[in-house]
Amino acid sequence: SPRQTDPKTVLITGASSGIGSATALHLAEQGHTVVLGARRQERLEALVSQISRQGGTAVAASLDVTDLSSVRAAVDYAVERFGRLDVLINNAGIMPLSPLEQARVEEWNSMIDVNIRGVLHGITAAQPVMRRQRSGQIITVASTGAHEVLPTAAVYCASKYAAWAISEGLRVESEPWLRVTTVTPGVTESELADSISDPETREAMRQYRANTLPPVAIAQGISYAINASDGTDVNEIVIRPTTQR
Ligand code: NDP
Repeated sequence: SPRQTDPKTVLITGASSGIGSATALHLAEQGHTVVLGARRQERLEALVSQISRQGGTAVAASLDVTDLSSVRAAVDYAVERFGRLDVLINNAGIMPLSPLEQARVEEWNSMIDVNIRGVLHGITAAQPVMRRQRSGQIITVASTGAHEVLPTAAVYCASKYAAWAISEGLRVESEPWLRVTTVTPGVTESELADSISDPETREAMRQYRANTLPPVAIAQGISYAINASDGTDVNEIVIRPTTQR
């Protein structure tokens, strides 16, 4: 169907590294317009340059998903630049793992703010635009940690169970013009584990994360959901390395 190849305007949160930046590159290669959201502006500018050199269309929109007004500003910027917002990808996330007993309360709060509130802020910012268009797609990057809990990952997994539930809740509440997709990656090469401050957990994760998917594997799943024909809603895609149980 011709609709399948229509270029779309896509806002990606957490586009400055890992899965988000691989997704931006992949979608831009397919001709989609990408709006890159994250806090590290210089990373975003470098990616904009790379995509532009390759003939794609990208702009940077610095944003912090913990701040609703900053996510709204990025959505407004996308609409101002390109006249519409077809897809939001709630991808920004953090994973400072530790055993509950260590009571790293600030890290728990940060995970709740970014991984849960960030998803709610994205949905809240994008929904009015998509309602006006009577068309749109909201994709949330959850995790296999949204389906199982591992030691040291109680709060991270709780935040991902929540992100999964919010995405599913949005899907069952939505009118047919909104497509809602949850993308559920397994262990993927990225900077995600760099924020683990507990040395033992860090070492355990280094071993657990010995075999990873390249982030483009997740980008391909996301693009499958975006490029699906109108009226088709890809609800959830789970992508693991074959080595992950
Ligand atoms: P990275 O650490 O490489 O990327 C995380 C991205 O999130 C960065 O671009 C970072 O940008 C952004 N980010 C963090 N905090 C904020 C914030 N407050 N506001 C805006 N952006 C923010 O990790 P991944 O690419 O792996 O992570 C992407 C998603 O994939 C996350 O939701 C993660 O939980 C999920 N995931 C990853 C897996 C993996 O094994 N890698 C497995 C399952 C799920 P900046 O710091 O510039 O703001």
